[in-house]
Amino acid sequence: MKDERYYSFSTFCKNTFGRRLYRAALDAGMTCPNRDGRAGTRGCIFCSGKGSGEFALAYKGQKLSREDLIWNHRPAQPGDFIAYFQAFTNTYAPAEQLKKLFTAALCDPLFAGIDIATRPDCLGEDVLALLRELKEEYPDKFIWIELGLQTIHETTANYIRRGYPLAVFDEAVKNLHEIGIPVITHVIIGLPGEDREMILETIRHLNRQKIDGIKLHLLHILKHTDLAEEYEKGVFTALDEDAYVSILCDCIAALDPHIVIHRLTGDGDRENLIAPRWSLDKRHVLNRVRHELAVRDIEQGQSM
Ligand code: SF4
Repeated sequence: MKDERYYSFSTFCKNTFGRRLYRAALDAGMTCPNRDGRAGTRGCIFCSGKGSGEFALAYKGQKLSREDLIWNHRPAQPGDFIAYFQAFTNTYAPAEQLKKLFTAALCDPLFAGIDIATRPDCLGEDVLALLRELKEEYPDKFIWIELGLQTIHETTANYIRRGYPLAVFDEAVKNLHEIGIPVITHVIIGLPGEDREMILETIRHLNRQKIDGIKLHLLHILKHTDLAEEYEKGVFTALDEDAYVSILCDCIAALDPHIVIHRLTGDGDRENLIAPRWSLDKRHVLNRVRHELAVRDIEQGQSM
Protein backbone atom coordinates (compact mmCIF):
# COMPACT_ATOMS: atom_id res chain seq x y z
CA MET A 1 0.00 0.00 0.00
CA LYS A 2 2.69 2.47 0.91
CA ASP A 3 6.39 2.97 0.90
CA GLU A 4 6.45 4.71 4.27
CA ARG A 5 5.01 4.38 7.77
CA TYR A 6 1.82 6.24 6.91
CA TYR A 7 -0.40 6.58 3.85
CA SER A 8 0.72 9.95 2.56
CA PHE A 9 -1.00 12.10 -0.02
CA SER A 10 1.96 11.73 -2.37
CA THR A 11 1.79 7.92 -2.16
CA PHE A 12 -1.96 8.05 -2.75
CA CYS A 13 -1.42 10.26 -5.83
CA LYS A 14 1.23 7.96 -7.27
CA ASN A 15 -0.98 4.88 -6.65
CA THR A 16 -4.11 6.50 -8.05
CA PHE A 17 -2.93 8.86 -10.78
CA GLY A 18 0.61 7.66 -11.43
CA ARG A 19 1.99 11.07 -10.53
CA ARG A 20 1.98 13.74 -7.84
CA LEU A 21 -0.86 16.26 -7.95
CA TYR A 22 -0.69 19.78 -6.50
CA ARG A 23 -3.48 21.76 -4.91
CA ALA A 24 -4.00 25.19 -6.42
CA ALA A 25 -5.61 27.15 -3.57
CA LEU A 26 -8.50 29.25 -4.85
CA ASP A 27 -10.56 32.00 -3.29
CA ALA A 28 -13.97 32.11 -4.96
CA GLY A 29 -15.13 35.11 -2.90
CA MET A 30 -17.41 33.09 -0.61
CA THR A 31 -18.45 33.90 2.92
CA CYS A 32 -19.32 31.62 5.82
CA PRO A 33 -22.53 31.01 7.85
CA ASN A 34 -20.39 31.31 10.95
CA ARG A 35 -19.66 34.91 10.02
CA ASP A 36 -22.74 36.22 8.24
CA GLY A 37 -25.12 35.49 11.12
CA ARG A 38 -26.74 32.21 10.06
CA ALA A 39 -24.68 30.16 12.54
CA GLY A 40 -22.66 32.94 14.16
CA THR A 41 -21.12 36.36 13.57
CA ARG A 42 -17.61 36.08 14.98
CA GLY A 43 -16.43 32.96 13.18
CA CYS A 44 -14.52 30.07 14.68
CA ILE A 45 -12.30 31.31 17.49
CA PHE A 46 -9.08 30.58 15.56
CA CYS A 47 -10.22 31.76 12.13
CA SER A 48 -8.35 34.57 10.46
CA GLY A 49 -10.46 37.12 8.61
CA LYS A 50 -9.41 35.37 5.40
CA GLY A 51 -11.25 32.10 6.15
CA SER A 52 -8.04 30.03 5.89
CA GLY A 53 -7.43 31.28 2.36
CA GLU A 54 -4.41 33.52 3.08
CA PHE A 55 -2.48 32.38 0.03
CA ALA A 56 -5.39 31.59 -2.29
CA LEU A 57 -5.74 32.92 -5.82
CA ALA A 58 -8.91 34.91 -6.60
CA TYR A 59 -11.03 32.74 -8.87
CA LYS A 60 -14.41 33.34 -10.49
CA GLY A 61 -14.20 30.62 -13.11
CA GLN A 62 -11.79 32.51 -15.39
CA LYS A 63 -9.30 30.68 -17.61
CA LEU A 64 -6.08 30.17 -15.69
CA SER A 65 -2.64 29.52 -17.09
CA ARG A 66 -0.06 27.11 -15.78
CA GLU A 67 2.02 30.14 -14.77
CA ASP A 68 -0.83 31.32 -12.49
CA LEU A 69 -0.55 28.07 -10.54
CA ILE A 70 3.17 27.44 -10.31
CA TRP A 71 4.81 28.31 -7.08
CA ASN A 72 7.85 26.97 -5.25
CA HIS A 73 9.25 26.20 -8.73
CA ARG A 74 7.40 22.92 -8.79
CA PRO A 75 7.67 21.46 -12.28
CA ALA A 76 3.96 20.66 -12.51
CA GLN A 77 2.30 20.17 -15.88
CA PRO A 78 -1.29 20.92 -16.96
CA GLY A 79 -3.47 18.21 -15.41
CA ASP A 80 -1.22 17.93 -12.37
CA PHE A 81 -3.29 20.48 -10.45
CA ILE A 82 -6.31 20.20 -8.20
CA ALA A 83 -8.70 23.16 -8.07
CA TYR A 84 -8.79 23.58 -4.32
CA PHE A 85 -11.65 25.85 -3.28
CA GLN A 86 -10.07 26.78 0.01
CA ALA A 87 -11.18 30.15 1.38
CA PHE A 88 -14.31 30.27 3.55
CA THR A 89 -17.30 27.95 2.85
CA ASN A 90 -17.39 26.89 -0.75
CA THR A 91 -20.88 25.42 -0.94
CA TYR A 92 -22.49 28.41 0.77
CA ALA A 93 -23.99 30.06 -2.32
CA PRO A 94 -26.94 29.40 -4.65
CA ALA A 95 -26.58 26.08 -6.48
CA GLU A 96 -26.67 27.81 -9.89
CA GLN A 97 -23.67 29.96 -8.92
CA LEU A 98 -21.82 26.93 -7.59
CA LYS A 99 -22.59 25.01 -10.76
CA LYS A 100 -20.95 27.69 -12.95
CA LEU A 101 -17.92 27.87 -10.70
CA PHE A 102 -17.30 24.14 -10.33
CA THR A 103 -18.09 23.45 -14.00
CA ALA A 104 -15.48 26.01 -15.08
CA ALA A 105 -12.82 24.25 -13.00
CA LEU A 106 -13.90 20.76 -14.10
CA CYS A 107 -13.73 21.83 -17.77
CA ASP A 108 -10.26 23.34 -17.36
CA PRO A 109 -7.57 20.92 -18.61
CA LEU A 110 -5.19 22.30 -15.97
CA PHE A 111 -7.20 20.50 -13.28
CA ALA A 112 -7.42 16.75 -12.66
CA GLY A 113 -10.33 17.40 -10.31
CA ILE A 114 -11.79 19.71 -7.71
CA ASP A 115 -11.48 19.74 -3.94
CA ILE A 116 -14.12 21.78 -2.14
CA ALA A 117 -13.59 22.98 1.43
CA THR A 118 -16.87 23.56 3.17
CA ARG A 119 -18.96 22.96 6.31
CA PRO A 120 -21.19 19.93 6.87
CA ASP A 121 -24.15 22.24 7.58
CA CYS A 122 -23.83 23.64 4.05
CA LEU A 123 -24.45 20.39 2.18
CA GLY A 124 -28.21 20.44 1.69
CA GLU A 125 -30.20 18.51 -0.89
CA ASP A 126 -29.57 21.11 -3.63
CA VAL A 127 -25.78 20.93 -3.16
CA LEU A 128 -25.78 17.12 -3.00
CA ALA A 129 -27.87 16.99 -6.18
CA LEU A 130 -25.39 19.32 -7.89
CA LEU A 131 -22.41 17.24 -6.80
CA ARG A 132 -24.13 14.08 -8.04
CA GLU A 133 -24.86 15.75 -11.39
CA LEU A 134 -21.29 17.02 -11.82
CA LYS A 135 -19.87 13.65 -10.90
CA GLU A 136 -21.92 12.01 -13.65
CA GLU A 137 -21.14 14.73 -16.17
CA TYR A 138 -17.37 14.68 -15.61
CA PRO A 139 -16.50 11.03 -14.94
CA ASP A 140 -12.85 11.58 -15.87
CA LYS A 141 -12.44 14.22 -13.12
CA PHE A 142 -12.71 13.74 -9.38
CA ILE A 143 -14.68 15.72 -6.79
CA TRP A 144 -13.58 15.70 -3.15
CA ILE A 145 -15.11 17.47 -0.16
CA GLU A 146 -13.09 18.78 2.80
CA LEU A 147 -14.84 19.30 6.14
CA GLY A 148 -13.34 21.21 9.06
CA LEU A 149 -14.56 19.09 11.98
CA GLN A 150 -11.52 19.79 14.23
CA THR A 151 -12.87 17.70 17.15
CA ILE A 152 -15.73 15.35 18.05
CA HIS A 153 -16.04 16.84 21.54
CA GLU A 154 -19.02 19.15 21.93
CA THR A 155 -17.46 21.13 24.81
CA THR A 156 -14.49 22.02 22.65
CA ALA A 157 -16.73 22.60 19.63
CA ASN A 158 -18.74 25.12 21.65
CA TYR A 159 -15.57 26.81 22.91
CA ILE A 160 -14.17 27.20 19.39
CA ARG A 161 -17.64 28.30 18.12
CA ARG A 162 -17.75 25.69 15.38
CA GLY A 163 -21.49 26.22 15.07
CA TYR A 164 -22.81 22.71 14.42
CA PRO A 165 -23.02 19.47 16.41
CA LEU A 166 -21.17 16.25 15.58
CA ALA A 167 -24.37 14.60 14.29
CA VAL A 168 -24.42 17.10 11.40
CA PHE A 169 -20.93 16.04 10.38
CA ASP A 170 -21.80 12.33 10.59
CA GLU A 171 -24.91 12.87 8.45
CA ALA A 172 -22.93 14.84 5.84
CA VAL A 173 -20.30 12.09 5.57
CA LYS A 174 -23.04 9.50 5.10
CA ASN A 175 -24.78 11.59 2.41
CA LEU A 176 -21.54 12.27 0.54
CA HIS A 177 -20.53 8.62 0.61
CA GLU A 178 -23.95 7.65 -0.75
CA ILE A 179 -23.21 9.69 -3.88
CA GLY A 180 -19.62 8.47 -4.09
CA ILE A 181 -17.85 11.65 -2.97
CA PRO A 182 -14.71 11.11 -0.84
CA VAL A 183 -14.47 13.12 2.38
CA ILE A 184 -11.27 14.66 3.76
CA THR A 185 -11.61 15.82 7.36
CA HIS A 186 -9.60 18.47 9.20
CA VAL A 187 -8.62 17.80 12.81
CA ILE A 188 -6.77 20.24 15.06
CA ILE A 189 -4.28 18.97 17.62
CA GLY A 190 -3.74 21.24 20.61
CA LEU A 191 -7.21 22.72 21.06
CA PRO A 192 -7.67 24.25 24.54
CA GLY A 193 -8.95 21.70 27.06
CA GLU A 194 -8.15 18.65 24.93
CA ASP A 195 -5.68 16.04 26.10
CA ARG A 196 -4.11 13.18 24.16
CA GLU A 197 -6.94 10.75 24.85
CA MET A 198 -9.61 13.20 23.63
CA ILE A 199 -7.71 13.70 20.38
CA LEU A 200 -7.44 9.94 19.93
CA GLU A 201 -11.19 9.63 20.49
CA THR A 202 -11.68 11.98 17.53
CA ILE A 203 -9.41 9.79 15.39
CA ARG A 204 -11.29 6.61 16.39
CA HIS A 205 -14.62 8.24 15.55
CA LEU A 206 -13.32 9.18 12.10
CA ASN A 207 -12.19 5.58 11.55
CA ARG A 208 -15.77 4.47 12.24
CA GLN A 209 -17.15 7.06 9.83
CA LYS A 210 -14.82 5.63 7.16
CA ILE A 211 -13.60 9.01 6.02
CA ASP A 212 -11.25 8.90 3.06
CA GLY A 213 -8.61 11.44 4.00
CA ILE A 214 -7.46 13.55 6.90
CA LYS A 215 -5.58 16.79 7.43
CA LEU A 216 -3.95 16.90 10.86
CA HIS A 217 -3.22 20.46 11.91
CA LEU A 218 -1.39 21.98 14.81
CA LEU A 219 -3.44 24.72 16.50
CA HIS A 220 -2.12 28.03 15.23
CA ILE A 221 -2.69 31.15 17.27
CA LEU A 222 -2.99 34.00 14.80
CA LYS A 223 -2.99 37.74 15.40
CA HIS A 224 -6.38 39.51 15.41
CA THR A 225 -8.32 36.41 16.46
CA ASP A 226 -10.31 35.81 19.63
CA LEU A 227 -8.08 32.81 20.25
CA ALA A 228 -5.08 35.16 20.44
CA GLU A 229 -6.83 37.13 23.21
CA GLU A 230 -7.45 33.93 25.16
CA TYR A 231 -3.83 32.91 24.69
CA GLU A 232 -2.52 36.29 25.80
CA LYS A 233 -4.75 36.16 28.90
CA GLY A 234 -3.12 32.80 29.74
CA VAL A 235 -6.33 30.77 29.38
CA PHE A 236 -4.33 28.00 27.68
CA THR A 237 -0.82 27.25 26.50
CA ALA A 238 0.34 26.24 23.03
CA LEU A 239 1.78 22.78 22.47
CA ASP A 240 5.54 22.48 22.40
CA GLU A 241 7.20 20.59 19.58
CA ASP A 242 7.89 17.42 21.59
CA ALA A 243 4.27 17.13 22.69
CA TYR A 244 2.94 17.75 19.18
CA VAL A 245 5.21 15.17 17.57
CA SER A 246 4.36 12.62 20.24
CA ILE A 247 0.56 13.10 19.98
CA LEU A 248 0.72 13.19 16.18
CA CYS A 249 2.53 9.84 16.09
CA ASP A 250 -0.12 8.36 18.42
CA CYS A 251 -2.80 9.65 16.02
CA ILE A 252 -1.05 7.97 13.09
CA ALA A 253 -0.89 4.69 15.03
CA ALA A 254 -4.63 4.95 15.80
CA LEU A 255 -5.71 5.94 12.28
CA ASP A 256 -7.19 3.39 9.88
CA PRO A 257 -4.45 2.63 7.33
CA HIS A 258 -6.88 3.20 4.42
CA ILE A 259 -7.26 6.87 5.33
CA VAL A 260 -4.94 9.09 3.32
CA ILE A 261 -2.99 11.63 5.37
CA HIS A 262 -3.04 14.84 3.36
CA ARG A 263 -1.33 16.93 6.01
CA LEU A 264 0.73 16.41 9.16
CA THR A 265 1.05 20.01 10.27
CA GLY A 266 -0.15 23.44 9.22
CA ASP A 267 1.34 26.05 6.95
CA GLY A 268 1.83 28.98 9.27
CA ASP A 269 1.18 32.52 8.14
CA ARG A 270 4.66 33.75 9.13
CA GLU A 271 3.60 37.37 9.70
CA ASN A 272 0.49 36.63 11.72
CA LEU A 273 1.50 33.56 13.67
CA ILE A 274 1.86 34.34 17.38
CA ALA A 275 2.46 30.75 18.50
CA PRO A 276 3.77 28.14 18.21
CA ARG A 277 6.61 29.78 16.26
CA TRP A 278 8.58 26.51 16.12
CA SER A 279 6.02 25.25 13.62
CA LEU A 280 7.32 27.63 10.95
CA ASP A 281 10.20 25.25 10.27
CA LYS A 282 7.96 22.71 8.60
CA ARG A 283 10.76 20.58 7.18
CA HIS A 284 12.24 20.20 10.66
CA VAL A 285 8.86 19.22 12.13
CA LEU A 286 8.26 16.61 9.42
CA ASN A 287 11.74 15.19 9.97
CA ARG A 288 11.02 14.96 13.69
CA VAL A 289 7.78 13.08 12.98
CA ARG A 290 9.54 10.61 10.64
CA HIS A 291 12.26 10.08 13.20
CA GLU A 292 9.77 9.48 16.03
CA LEU A 293 7.77 7.03 13.92
CA ALA A 294 10.96 5.09 13.22
CA VAL A 295 12.24 5.16 16.81
CA ARG A 296 8.87 4.00 18.19
CA ASP A 297 8.42 1.62 15.24
CA ILE A 298 4.95 3.00 14.52
CA GLU A 299 2.93 2.24 11.40
CA GLN A 300 -0.42 3.78 10.57
CA GLY A 301 -3.27 1.74 12.07
CA GLN A 302 -1.17 -0.47 14.32
CA SER A 303 -3.12 0.53 17.43
CA MET A 304 -6.61 1.04 15.98
S1 SF4 B 1 -16.10 27.66 9.26
FE1 SF4 B 1 -14.10 28.09 8.31
S2 SF4 B 1 -14.31 30.10 7.31
FE2 SF4 B 1 -16.06 29.86 8.73
S3 SF4 B 1 -15.39 30.89 10.61
FE3 SF4 B 1 -14.88 28.69 10.83
S4 SF4 B 1 -12.76 28.47 10.07
FE4 SF4 B 1 -13.54 30.48 9.39
